[in-house]
Amino acid sequence: MDSKKQYAQFFEKQLLGRYITLNHIKPILDILPSFCKISVVGHSVLDKEIISIQLGHGVKKVLIWSQMHGNETTTTKAIFDFLGFLSHKTTSKEVVNKFLGTYTLTILPILNPDGAEAYTRNNAKDVDLNRDAQDQTEPESVVLSSVFKAFSPDLCLNMHDQRTIYGLESGLPATISYLAPSADKDRTITSARKEAMEIIASLFLNASSEVKNQIGRYDDGFNKNCVGDTFQMAGVPTILFEAGHYENDYQREITRKHICFALLDLFKINSNAGNPSIDIYNAIPENKKNYKDVLIKNVKLPKENSFQTIAVQFVENLLDNKIVFTPTIDAIGSLTDVYGHLEVDANGSEVLINSHDKITIGQKVLHIIDKNNPNTTFFSIDSFS
Ligand SMILES: [Zn+2]
Repeated sequence: MDSKKQYAQFFEKQLLGRYITLNHIKPILDILPSFCKISVVGHSVLDKEIISIQLGHGVKKVLIWSQMHGNETTTTKAIFDFLGFLSHKTTSKEVVNKFLGTYTLTILPILNPDGAEAYTRNNAKDVDLNRDAQDQTEPESVVLSSVFKAFSPDLCLNMHDQRTIYGLESGLPATISYLAPSADKDRTITSARKEAMEIIASLFLNASSEVKNQIGRYDDGFNKNCVGDTFQMAGVPTILFEAGHYENDYQREITRKHICFALLDLFKINSNAGNPSIDIYNAIPENKKNYKDVLIKNVKLPKENSFQTIAVQFVENLLDNKIVFTPTIDAIGSLTDVYGHLEVDANGSEVLINSHDKITIGQKVLHIIDKNNPNTTFFSIDSFS
């Protein structure tokens, strides 16, 4: 049976959108099957619980953490989708028992609960936990490192979101990006790193056609302050997951599905990749910062004769427990090497932004219309809310 076909039945329907906090996951923890053991492994700066979910009794130990960056929630949704698969009535007991007998998992679904609550990347002391691997100044970093030491995993999954600015040379957005972080400055392919590369290659080979051409590979420059690099340096294969943009999916409900599928593949629920190798890993296209949310092309700027492109980027803010996307002028220029998730051709028109012809970086955008033909709207916030 292809478990991916059952996704609509088993995915975690209580977790939707971009704002996911402890309050959102707690009711789900209460109804997880009895093979999931929930415990509190520590507390955040603001004394929120850092929860651990443990399951399985197999020899292969896998440590997974998500929301180390508090506003990166897609992989948390995917983890609960995966748990939903294991607990759903349509999933065969044989498959579940085989999984539980092969693996032991420790999952920290929200490592940075304060950042999750405030919808920030950093923790409550404004520290980026993914630059604190050596100094360990933050309680959340200490929790992760003590779980790592006590559990002694064979594999680590470091799960994040990436912004909509990431795409591939081909002009497609990077919906999922992976990295087998380096373990030293020379980017040596250690045995741990090789294993991580081969697993990523197998995830790439198994990815469904919906995203196969939208998988990227991150730059492997070494930074020992990053947790993945530190764990790889300790000899434990570590994989960075970055959930990214899929066309028209700002809530990342399609992306979460594909991250869940990657977990199903990683734990060999459905599939066996042919021959995953380092060559296949290296052939995954590199991630590039080559995307903006919206491009209005061929705009004639006042008092200029050349035509320019206006880039609009959605800035995410937490408002009344919801994430609001505010379109903001991000760049003005030729911008020939960037793509837009939405591209509009102004055909050489002069434009008005919010009824004015002054354009400034950082300005919030309600609408962009044709100055000489006000019935023509090139962009409107209304079409995105
Ligand atoms: Zn991140």
